[in-house]
Amino acid sequence: MKVYVNGALVDAAKAKVSVFDRGFLFGDGLFETLFVSRQGLLFWRRHWSRLARSAACLGIELPDESVVIHALEQVFVASGLDEALLRVTLTGGVQDAGMVARPGNKPTLIVTARGAPEVSQREFLKGWSVTIAGTRRGALFDGREMIKATSYLASILAAEYARCVGADEAVILDELGRVTEGSRTNIFAVLNGRLVTPALDSGVLAGVTREVIMEIAGEISSGCVERLLKPRDMLKADEIFMTGTAYGVMPVDSFDGRRVGGGKPGALTCMLAAAYQELVTTRGLEELWI
Ligand code: PMP
Repeated sequence: MKVYVNGALVDAAKAKVSVFDRGFLFGDGLFETLFVSRQGLLFWRRHWSRLARSAACLGIELPDESVVIHALEQVFVASGLDEALLRVTLTGGVQDAGMVARPGNKPTLIVTARGAPEVSQREFLKGWSVTIAGTRRGALFDGREMIKATSYLASILAAEYARCVGADEAVILDELGRVTEGSRTNIFAVLNGRLVTPALDSGVLAGVTREVIMEIAGEISSGCVERLLKPRDMLKADEIFMTGTAYGVMPVDSFDGRRVGGGKPGALTCMLAAAYQELVTTRGLEELWI
């Protein structure tokens, strides 16, 4: 398998990153995971914009967009896959001393590929069981939208918790016990006929799939409201679903041990999932290689 590291396509087994890389030493790095097929990169502009916002927030120099796209293309072609998930990792680069980043430090850019998981119709119909993680998420950057940083400990602990209790995903609460997001997904619920999701300033990642679903909801239904959600709200929800690049729209069949709706994907969930799928196979892939 080939990976891209700082300008070169190399064998994954031989790829090297310095032990002084700030991404490794301090978690001073960012990443994006995006779906690619032979038609192009899915929602590229949105991923690029999130990477740019995140880089500006951490003061990491953003490479030229054409450099990143070329790296993505090289890795995808070398993977031999028809469809893949590509990961772009951008770190603060190599700095042998000092925690504060030196201005002008050269960032490290890495691109890797893996097969895209296929969610079968059976898995979709079954839905996920979602538990509440034991760990809480602290207020990050004074409630500014969460950047996609490589330090993923809160998510790792939540996912590990889910695995231990036999759940498919765990929702992370903030310090005040409010619902933020899953370990690797955003969360939506249908409450009294309205689609709702936690607001970005509650410390959730500005998920690309979340953004797209909110737009679709505005086009084909009565839209989506961002609001505070407590676990007790979720227990009253008629429908719940999670979203993410790797899974698209994933219905939730149980939340914190209780059945959601009738235990099968709800009507709005199915409608949004179908519209999302349609977009993915048509307009979403408009971003062709340059
Ligand atoms: N929240 C977290 C913590 C995630 O890791 C992800 C996956 N990137 C998401 C939400 C979903 O984001 P996206 O739709 O951009 O994949």
